[in-house]
Amino acid sequence: MRRVLISGASIAGPALAYWLDRYGFEVTVVEKAPTVRQGGYPIDVRGSAIDVCERMGLGPALREANIKTRRMTMLAPDGRVAGRIDTEQLLAGTARRDVEVPRGELGDLLYALTKDRVEYVFGDSIRTLDQTAGGVDLTFTHGAPRTVDVVVGCDGQHSVTRRLAFGPEQDYSHYLGYCFAGFTAPNTDGLSHEAVLQNAPGVGTALYAVREQPWVHALLVFTDPQPARGWTADDLRDRVAARFAGVNSPVPGKLADAPDLYYDTVSQIKMPSWTTGRVALAGDAAYAPSFLSGQGTSLALTGAYVLAGELKRSGGELTGAYEQTMRDFVRDNQAMATGPSFLFPRTRHGLWLRNQSMRMAPLMSRIGSRIERNATALRIEDY
Ligand SMILES: Cc1cc2nc3c(=O)[nH]c(=O)nc-3n(C[C@H](O)[C@H](O)[C@H](O)COP(=O)(O)OP(=O)(O)OC[C@H]3O[C@@H](n4cnc5c(N)ncnc54)[C@H](O)[C@@H]3O)c2cc1C
Repeated sequence: MRRVLISGASIAGPALAYWLDRYGFEVTVVEKAPTVRQGGYPIDVRGSAIDVCERMGLGPALREANIKTRRMTMLAPDGRVAGRIDTEQLLAGTARRDVEVPRGELGDLLYALTKDRVEYVFGDSIRTLDQTAGGVDLTFTHGAPRTVDVVVGCDGQHSVTRRLAFGPEQDYSHYLGYCFAGFTAPNTDGLSHEAVLQNAPGVGTALYAVREQPWVHALLVFTDPQPARGWTADDLRDRVAARFAGVNSPVPGKLADAPDLYYDTVSQIKMPSWTTGRVALAGDAAYAPSFLSGQGTSLALTGAYVLAGELKRSGGELTGAYEQTMRDFVRDNQAMATGPSFLFPRTRHGLWLRNQSMRMAPLMSRIGSRIERNATALRIEDY
């Protein structure tokens, strides 16, 4: 049981490839996109995932890439400042090791570590998957069929591997009641190392300035009883215009010129099992926690490490050990996104409470401690 095919080359896929290659497996990574995806919003790497990265030798590069966001400013619907958070103060203790890096830069680091050691196939996707006694027979959209011993879906929230091996997405996707649109926009306000959020009940905008770059990551988030499935870009623009009508913000207007618009529901993936026969899932494909948790990348990195370690330990068999090790860690980190949202409160009362809490240092330190506790809860083993 030594041949492993991984679907998806973002975070979980290359991290898993790194460890499996180190343990002597023969690894192929198939990625739908023509290359490793560039750019992308900033993502946090925290706690146990920092330990995984240190063991991959990525510690210095991650510290170098850390964008060091200094503060987060919250604006009221009319544009007045409702509160400010010193992000360096929020995360004290061991959380000082945590980093925030552009997703593309982390993807590049992981790809650079593995590209000369494992086979990468870009611009292709699994089309059919058939488990037999002898292995998993695969066909692809473009490439020739293959048979491997184990398949791992690291292909994100809308995983094709999950659909083929476990069933339709709606069986596992839990809508959290928000839709979002993300895009890049010119940094017209000279923002640097900071984020600016503006909230009204159930709607919010965010501008995220990475270092001193001349553009910002813009995010529009809004509650909607209907998940945004099947929406066209025009549907999205209509919805945004209606929902942000009372918010005095320039951000919704920037949507029209967005060069790289993407939009989706804010959802979590919850599954009773992440393995079936010779097929496993890791990262967002198995346990997407949503960006409201800030823990998707860290779960993807730790999940890849644990899955590879357990495959080594069992000689390539998928046992229950991966799930047993990861379950509670996933549950607690997913739970950070399902209570009242700190970043995007849904109600007038919730927004008022959030704004008050920013003035109460003990409360803010409790929030910081909870993030740290959950992010560090998994002690990674030596495999
Ligand atoms: C706006 C936003 C902000 C976020 N902020 C944070 C944050 O602050 N902190 C944090 O930890 N996380 C954050 N996340 C979440 C984070 O990006 C994900 O949890 C993380 O990238 C998961 O990694 P992954 O490798 O499992 O999946 P993904 O990064 O989704 O990668 C999946 C890969 O599979 C490929 N793929 C898809 N379909 C196929 C197919 N059929 N065949 C082959 N390849 C395929 C995709 O092209 C992609 O390369 C945020 C997400 C969003 C959308």
